[in-house]
Amino acid sequence: MKLTFLGTSAGSPTAQRNVSSIVLDVRQERGRLWLFDCGETTQMQMQKAKFSLSKLEILFLTHLHGDHLFGLPGVLTSRSLMQNQSSLILVGPKGIKQFIETVIEISDSWLTYPLNIIELEKDCTVFEDNLFRVEAKLLQHRVPCFGYRIIEKDLPATLNIDKLKQDNIEIGSLYSDLKKGKTIILDDGRLINGLDYLGQIKKGRKLAILGDTIPCEASIELAKDVDVLVHEATQEHALADKAIARGHSTTTHAATIAKQANAKKLIMTHISPRYSLHDNDKLVSEAKNIFPNTEIATDFSTFEI
Ligand code: ZN
Repeated sequence: MKLTFLGTSAGSPTAQRNVSSIVLDVRQERGRLWLFDCGETTQMQMQKAKFSLSKLEILFLTHLHGDHLFGLPGVLTSRSLMQNQSSLILVGPKGIKQFIETVIEISDSWLTYPLNIIELEKDCTVFEDNLFRVEAKLLQHRVPCFGYRIIEKDLPATLNIDKLKQDNIEIGSLYSDLKKGKTIILDDGRLINGLDYLGQIKKGRKLAILGDTIPCEASIELAKDVDVLVHEATQEHALADKAIARGHSTTTHAATIAKQANAKKLIMTHISPRYSLHDNDKLVSEAKNIFPNTEIATDFSTFEI
């Protein structure tokens, strides 16, 4: 599982940073890509990062402000031109359905694949299968804005085939009992403990990708004990009043949430255009005063989870 930031600027693009979009690369786990937010130029950023639109499985929007949304019509309609016509799930706050239907109708465009739109109005589980669960919670911004908690389910322990062979144990019909770690009497009278032949359960990873917000309880709940928290840090802390007035957070706010939530790592993004890349060290060191394991995202930076 990998995160790649396609855009890290707040409000409008700069020469150094495009507007919000993040790829969660779950190709290794499920062969697909998940996208979080879709600011303008996202599809070109995807091409530059060598991500195919056809691999998109779920597109999550945190909120409907333009810097998180205006790339969406292009991504959806360009995807109709691709060979692979797999269905797509679009998750976002109420209003996203009307936005898409209006754009498609007025621009005389069309989609050639099934688009399943899930509109959010309150906290809920937005997706679940045997590998992942994604929960959404309402944050505190100027418009309804959601944060997402992505939970990879634990992988069951695998059988140690070599050890079974060494002990001359024929797996055959015992397979499911051994996988459950049961105690079994073999045909030759031996009593074996299935747990002796099971490896470790592989703990699933957890991450939180939050939209625009002032510091709030929901952020802490979403980020509780996560491996990675992605949090906006629009301003330096000297501009805290300005940030809060606009529904945003500072570096210090983001770091405080990471600390309160007991996250393992914080990645800050959604950086005001007032800052150039030269300011990264200053912004990171502000956050590190509170939460040492902090990094700041730049466009195309990638993080293994
Ligand atoms: Zn916003």
